[in-house]
Amino acid sequence: MSQKIVAGIDIGGTKIAVALENQAGGRVADRRFPTDVARGPEKIVDEILRAIEEMLAETGAALGAVGIGCPGPIDIERGLVLSPTNLPGWIDFPLVELVEKRFGVPVVLDNDANAAALGEYFFGAGRGFRDLFYVTISTGIGGAIVCEGRIHHGVQAGAGEVGHTIVDPHGTACRCGARGCLETIASGTGIARRMRERLAAQNGGNVENYRRITAETVVEAVRSDNATARAVWDETIEFLAIGLGNAITIVAPQAVVIGGGVAAAGELLLGPLREAIGKNVTMLPIEKVEILKATLGSESGVCGALILGKSALERGQNVR
Ligand SMILES: [Zn+2]
Repeated sequence: MSQKIVAGIDIGGTKIAVALENQAGGRVADRRFPTDVARGPEKIVDEILRAIEEMLAETGAALGAVGIGCPGPIDIERGLVLSPTNLPGWIDFPLVELVEKRFGVPVVLDNDANAAALGEYFFGAGRGFRDLFYVTISTGIGGAIVCEGRIHHGVQAGAGEVGHTIVDPHGTACRCGARGCLETIASGTGIARRMRERLAAQNGGNVENYRRITAETVVEAVRSDNATARAVWDETIEFLAIGLGNAITIVAPQAVVIGGGVAAAGELLLGPLREAIGKNVTMLPIEKVEILKATLGSESGVCGALILGKSALERGQNVR
């Protein structure tokens, strides 16, 4: 029997990563390109699938299965991308059916945080732990629960969404419709917004004057001892420790793995966060919960998508 290839696709709001792997787990080919969201889902998916066809032609091997990580909300059973905020126009988009029709192989779809969590669990910071809670802090905050090598999905694959737990009932309105979600405060967007607001209040200027401030520039300012940035950062840690502390109390994972752009701050984030979480979590021995930075970086999503693809190949799912 000829060697079967698995394809992994990581679709993001700004970039797409595609990779092929053989059954021994060896990376055969990969490609990355920007997501031109204005082109709409059909053209974007066609570009992805053509890239896979080209890579397959180069290797001469047959495709066995495809795994896809995509921003949620998604409907796993029906293989639909429902309407992610960072993928405008993807409304009830039948992604799985489209890929299955093109290639005639089993296709598994999961949301991007779940895929990244699988990547970290099997190949990154989560290796060796029985279960883990994964959180990604970037433009938004996503989360996922891995138990004994499997994602806990819950209703509409919505489990683990720590970014939309309410940590300040009187806080800022969130894009999800609630108020004071962790994401509004501690995401990259939330960190930059609070810094702009503080500077405008201190200096009497308009918030717009500070639009060039990002979470990254806030982190730089903390490192150079800027008092305003330090206050924003301390508040970020305080609220992350509430949200993640609650998640730890509910899930009791052996490890919490933190990914996303804001996690690039490293120990500036993790050191004080471990300490604050230690004070908030009282019902379990917090020293038995490792709080770690993700190690795969932007590769976690496509690694997870390949794991999803391998699971589809092993299960030998029937094509609909
Ligand atoms: Zn929310």
